[in-house]
Order: sequence, then C-alpha cells, then structure tokens
Amino acid sequence: MAASLRLLGAASGLRYWSRRLRPAAGSFAAVCSRSVASKTPVGFIGLGNMGNPMAKNLMKHGYPLIIYDVFPDACKEFQDAGEQVVSSPADVAEKADRIITMLPTSINAIEAYSGANGILKKVKKGSLLIDSSTIDPAVSKELAKEVEKMGAVFMDAPVSGGVGAARSGNLTFMVGGVEDEFAAAQELLGCMGSNVVYCGAVGTGQAAKICNNMLLAISMIGTAETMNLGIRLGLDPKLLAKILNMSSGRCWSSDTYNPVPGVMDGVPSANNYQGGFGTTLMAKDLGLAQDSATSTKSPILLGSLAHQIYRMMCAKGYSKKDFSSVFQFLREEETF
Ligand code: NAD
Repeated sequence: MAASLRLLGAASGLRYWSRRLRPAAGSFAAVCSRSVASKTPVGFIGLGNMGNPMAKNLMKHGYPLIIYDVFPDACKEFQDAGEQVVSSPADVAEKADRIITMLPTSINAIEAYSGANGILKKVKKGSLLIDSSTIDPAVSKELAKEVEKMGAVFMDAPVSGGVGAARSGNLTFMVGGVEDEFAAAQELLGCMGSNVVYCGAVGTGQAAKICNNMLLAISMIGTAETMNLGIRLGLDPKLLAKILNMSSGRCWSSDTYNPVPGVMDGVPSANNYQGGFGTTLMAKDLGLAQDSATSTKSPILLGSLAHQIYRMMCAKGYSKKDFSSVFQFLREEETF
C-alpha cells in the first residue's frame, strides 16, 4: 500500500499525500526500521463506529492487529477473524510498536495512554503512537511530552469524513507531530484514508480538525434554518435545495448532507437521523473550539452559538441522532 503513495507539493512546503498518483520507486527508503518492517502487528485501541472500519482496512492491507476496547463486544468480530485481542492498552504496547487510538474524548485518550494499565506502562522505545481521536490540542501536546519521555513518538491524526469514508478508506487525516516521522505514519494512515495532510507540530492536526468542525456546525445550522424558513414560506424543499445548490448559498450541508428528510437519499436525514456523526460528538468538538478560542483570545461568535445549540439538543433528546437533526430541532420550535 505504502508503495502506491506519493508525496505531493513538497516544494511548496505542503506535505500532502494522495492515493491517486502512482509511487516514486523507493520513496520510503529513508523511513526508519520500524516502518520498513511494514507488516509487523499494529495495535488498535477503540473499535467503535470509526475504529471498527478503520481497523478492518488495515486488515485488508495485510496488517495483523493487536486489539483492545473497554467494551469487549467491540472486539468480538476481530477475534473471530483471527486477530489478537488483549486486555489493556499496556498489553497492546507490549506487543506492537505502532499503535492507533480512536477514542471518543480527551478523557478516554488520557486513560488509554496514562491510566493504570495505559500504553505508557509498557511502551517500547521507538514506538510510533498515532491518536486519531478528536481531542483537545493541549491534551495531544501533553501526551506527546509523556510519550517522548519514554523514548517513543506521538502524532495526532484526527480524521474528517465520517463512517462512510472510514468504511471506504477515504478519510482525510490531519497530522501533527515531528515531520521526520510523517512518512512512517502515512504508511498506515494511507490504508485508511485517501488524503493524509501534514499540518505541523503536535496539536496542529487537532487544530485543523476543530476549525473544520466548527465551520461544519455553523453551516449545518445555517442550512437547517434556511430550509425551514423556505418550507414555511411555501417552497418545496427539493426545489429550494436545488436552487441553493446552484446559487451562492451552496455548501456541503446543503448539497451533500442535506438535513431535510426527503431531499436526498443515503444521508441520515433520510433515515430518521440514524448513523452518521452524533450530536454529542459535535457538541464535544464545539466545546473544544470554545476552549481553544478562549485560550487564543479569538472571537468565535457563531461558533459559540452553535455550541449552545448542540448542547441544548443533547439535553432535549437528540444526543444519539446525527448532527443534521438540528433541522428537526428547529422545525419543532416556533417563535413569535
Ligand atoms: P465511538 O463512541 O463509536 O467509539 C469509541 C470506542 O472507544 C468505543 O468502542 C469505546 O468502547 C472505546 N473506548 C472508550 N474509552 C476507551 C478506553 N479508555 N480504552 C479503550 N477503548 C475505549 O466513537 P467514534 O464515532 O468511533 O469516534 C471516535 C473519534 O472519532 C471521536 O473523537 C470522534 O469525535 C471522531 N470522529 C468521529 C466521526 C464519526 O462520524 N463518528 C467522524 C470524524 C471524527
């Protein structure tokens, strides 16, 4: 797999790999011995909505896996497929020198790394630890320091793309960490994503992810309230979506992930907002944006409002629904 990837844009300073182009022969020659031994087992911690299909894509590329999840049922299908399931993150670190974590929140990542049976208890020198969870960039930096003390390497590599892209191996990874290690990380991430972008020092992957999701939340709320207004003005929702999508109001939320039931097939709004990206996770990401805005003294007026809206939705029973259910939430509200 690694050999089918090629570095793009190096001259411009942009480290960006895409699967679309054929490889330059020997492009990984300089990669350290850890990744040259490319089919040695890879540890995977957190086999939830995203981790499950991501781990399966590593399997498809021939990587044996060392698996751990606090929820044993999440490991079952991997065990049935012959992968090795262990009983703690420390055990993963004992058996694998490349580990990917895909966990819900900062607290879970801290537990998996620094907990009583965390990765740091048994991590081997020279190991590469890649955290693909969306967490606080400040936590990523702290974890990187702890990992470095043990002689290993930490990179943050959160993803954009959702469950569908995780299944098809088309995620976008935003990677922060030591640049010299990017190629080694890319070898694994390229099995799960079609775009792997180097962002800078540790924490910058999370920064990019948080910014993207804040914009996504704002545009989704904007799309939902626009569609609701148009419907109440008597417009057919499909027609309104068509007009928006050929006009300047077009965005991903309107043309690819429309929140109004009946406008598009194959999106959560067509399935009672099941699957997709949960409202709780969006509220969490907006909380991270809020914290980051406070620490950098950045005004995020709409981002803060979006945070409050998604928090309110969680409190009103939408937490397990896809974040596009903000349309349903607004639809149920009537104002004077
Ligand atoms: P999830 O809740 O479905 O899965 C998380 C898994 O981690 C669960 O199986 C859980 O049991 C396990 N877990 C929790 N704490 C653990 C610990 N200490 N040790 C081992 N396992 C532990 O979450 P998800 O949807 O897979 O999301 C994972 C991350 O990816 C989140 O940070 C989320 O924000 C991000 N993300 C999700 C999506 C999406 O569409 N779902 C898209 C992009 C990014």
